[in-house]
Amino acid sequence: MKIDRIDVNAYQAKHRKPYSNGKYTYATTDIVICRVFTDDGYEGIGWAHGTDIVVDTMLSLRDRIMGEDPFNVERIWDKMYLPKVYGRKGFETRAISALDVGMWDIMGKVAGRPIRQLLGGYHETIPAYIAGGYYEEGKTLEDLQDEVRENVAKGAKAIKMKIGLVSIKEDLERIDAVRDAVGPDCLILVDANNVYNRLDALKMGRELDKRDIYWFEEPLSPDDIEGCAELVRKIDTPIAIGENEYTRWGFKQLVDAHAAQVLNADALVLGGVTEWKKVADYAMASHILIAPHGDQEIHAHLVSAVPNGLIAEYYDTNLNSLLSAMFKTHIVLDEKGHIAAPSGPGVGVDIDFESLKQFQTYPEK
Ligand SMILES: [Mg+2]
Repeated sequence: MKIDRIDVNAYQAKHRKPYSNGKYTYATTDIVICRVFTDDGYEGIGWAHGTDIVVDTMLSLRDRIMGEDPFNVERIWDKMYLPKVYGRKGFETRAISALDVGMWDIMGKVAGRPIRQLLGGYHETIPAYIAGGYYEEGKTLEDLQDEVRENVAKGAKAIKMKIGLVSIKEDLERIDAVRDAVGPDCLILVDANNVYNRLDALKMGRELDKRDIYWFEEPLSPDDIEGCAELVRKIDTPIAIGENEYTRWGFKQLVDAHAAQVLNADALVLGGVTEWKKVADYAMASHILIAPHGDQEIHAHLVSAVPNGLIAEYYDTNLNSLLSAMFKTHIVLDEKGHIAAPSGPGVGVDIDFESLKQFQTYPEK
């Protein structure tokens, strides 16, 4: 079996209204999809978030792996990881991630098994939290409460909200309003998206300790590993980091520094499924739990594959026109607030290229 063609397509959709977390504002969703074809008729799909830099990197990497057997993921990964040429972390690892997911999709299709089982098949279903609680212009406390109540009505037993764009006092009012809306039993996770300095992170952390918060995500800069380790020692609320970390070597530093109790390792960012499994196994050896950031279609497989898979992030794809168009079927929460990985072979999702056409940015229509 040989890879004999790889197509790359990019898509962009504007959000109905821009929304913000503590540090960033998002006006669009941007996705690059690769289709890996083999000489014996298999097709694997992979994707990553990003725009033209990811497209260009993917186009360049595909020439290096043409003719390879997609089962040889370690060799393929090594051929794609060229620190001196593309850099060690960031858009390069996103492009690698998408192509690597394509290989795992093919392996699953050949085996007739979902990626969840190729990696170990530990859990049948896994808990999920609904991500949201963003800032939006004109969004009131009541709007925020309505949003989280709707999520609970959809079956959520855990929800995440953003903090850090406004003062700590205002954010505590938002958190308390959310607790009032969801009741005592729903888990609340908060995410600061790297916005705090060490003083404010500690101050916020001590307030969170009084409020039974499930985890405090990205309190500090992704580069402040020591600062996170200090927070782990000083506050009771667990620290979750890792959506801005890459490769086995990056995560080794987080684990070795005891910088978090939970790692948000994202297979579409850090280097694909091949690399994610290494990260999960290294974390497991130190009794650290894994709860990936974003993209439930791939991460439902990965969280449920490994013993230290804790919980998956869940985005309501119906609220995002690009993600809604992209997948022919959507993962839904069950009555326990759990999700199951798609049971079909490989990634187990069908991409709706017809309905994506309206959003296509590369190749130009
Ligand atoms: Mg986050």
